[in-house]
Amino acid sequence: MNTNEQKFDVIVVGTGAGGATVARELSRKKKKVLMLEWGDYVPLTGSFKHCFKSLLFPGRGLLFTNQMLGLLRGIDTGGSTVFSCATFFPVPFEMLKSYGIDITAEVEEQKKELPIAPLKDEMIGPMSKRIMESAQDLGYNWQKLDKCMYQDKWKPEYKFSHYGDPHGVKWSARMYVEEAIANEASLINGAKVKKVIIEKKTAIGVEYKKDGKKLKVFAPKIIISAGGIGSPVILRASGIKEAGYNFFFDPVIVVRGIVKDIDVPSHEIPMAAGIHMEDEGYIMTDMAFPAAITAISAFQVFRFDKMLSRRKTLQIMIKAKDALYGKLTDNGGVRKNLKRDDKQKLMRGFERAKKILKNAGAKSIFKTWYFAGHPGGTVKVGELVDSNLKTKYENLYVCDCSVIPEAWGLPPVATIIGLGKRLSKHLTSE
Ligand SMILES: Cc1cc2nc3c(=O)[nH]c(=O)nc-3n(C[C@H](O)[C@H](O)[C@H](O)COP(=O)(O)OP(=O)(O)OC[C@H]3O[C@@H](n4cnc5c(N)ncnc54)[C@H](O)[C@@H]3O)c2cc1C
Repeated sequence: MNTNEQKFDVIVVGTGAGGATVARELSRKKKKVLMLEWGDYVPLTGSFKHCFKSLLFPGRGLLFTNQMLGLLRGIDTGGSTVFSCATFFPVPFEMLKSYGIDITAEVEEQKKELPIAPLKDEMIGPMSKRIMESAQDLGYNWQKLDKCMYQDKWKPEYKFSHYGDPHGVKWSARMYVEEAIANEASLINGAKVKKVIIEKKTAIGVEYKKDGKKLKVFAPKIIISAGGIGSPVILRASGIKEAGYNFFFDPVIVVRGIVKDIDVPSHEIPMAAGIHMEDEGYIMTDMAFPAAITAISAFQVFRFDKMLSRRKTLQIMIKAKDALYGKLTDNGGVRKNLKRDDKQKLMRGFERAKKILKNAGAKSIFKTWYFAGHPGGTVKVGELVDSNLKTKYENLYVCDCSVIPEAWGLPPVATIIGLGKRLSKHLTSE
């Protein structure tokens, strides 16, 4: 495609939760949308090979902090949602309203359009059930969580789609990208955007690299949705030097124990149930990892004896609300050492998870090393974008996890979709 010969109304950079929503909504309003996506667009097969290239390749999807905390992001059409657990958490309406953002109507719209519901009983796997029963027995209000899955398409023989869903059961933003394309939006893959072209304090286009060539494309509106790490890197290169500081990434540990009388199937759906320990600053959920990830994460903490025991393992994920600190380098290197308070939150969760697992009959309990998958707060509303998500430059907007203004700690996709819908309405009303 020769982008210079085409006229676009909007360029959207990145096709994850934020970018795909904006592209879908604007294309439905007959806007001419161009999506630029660094990742590939190959059919999802559910293979580890695909996941390795798009999520686990060091320096691309997988970034390490100096504490060797592995930060994951999906570089793919559909972004991180391709690899997500599809758990939808309630949106913090009041917090957003305090920044002048009301997405109540947009979230209602989302609920009508997407299959958001707790899993039906036959989709709850034995690990999740065992952990939920044990937690409830100890007095926890441990309940099924909302998932965004087309449950009527599910079959027990399908593996859970940690590596991308070939059956279309799990919702991912790729579905919105495909809807946008059906509405005549254009998508260029392998296009790594470097910076926004600014003239007289107004964004007029972007510069990107594809197949080793530097290219430019122009449009009257530019939306940066390259995720919590990608967006601040592009903004810094475009003159917004304050982007990429004091962020969150929601650090995680997984607590594991072995039980003899269980056989965890490969279709076990992770994060089916859990609890939000709001006062203590973390969530706890079941977490069925695939075999390779179970092995790698046991290896990381020298539990070589537990690398191949996935089918006999109960796993509880603790995801903490870390405070806002740290900085990104200009190339997207992540500099953030977990402070004592944040480690303590995870340790409190570890102690609770240990008791739940023991009560479920588990032995040989241990925890994995830290990792994270929700980078955000790098281009905060109220600091670097206004309540319409506009930057200091005319016609330049940001819409993804980076704009979240406060410490977070929750799965963010439902909120980001709401923000994407609201931005699209704002742009079409202008
Ligand atoms: C393993 C895993 C499981 C998760 N499970 C859940 C869950 O159950 N529920 C939930 O709510 N959240 C979950 N999350 C988090 C959630 O997926 C992300 O927070 C969310 O997708 C962020 O949306 P985003 O639009 O900010 O960024 P992303 O979805 O990451 O999208 C960013 C996009 O920008 C592209 N990009 C980056 N840089 C450039 C560039 N320079 N040029 C062009 N394109 C670029 C990327 O390829 C990507 O497509 C999970 C995350 C991971 C990693």
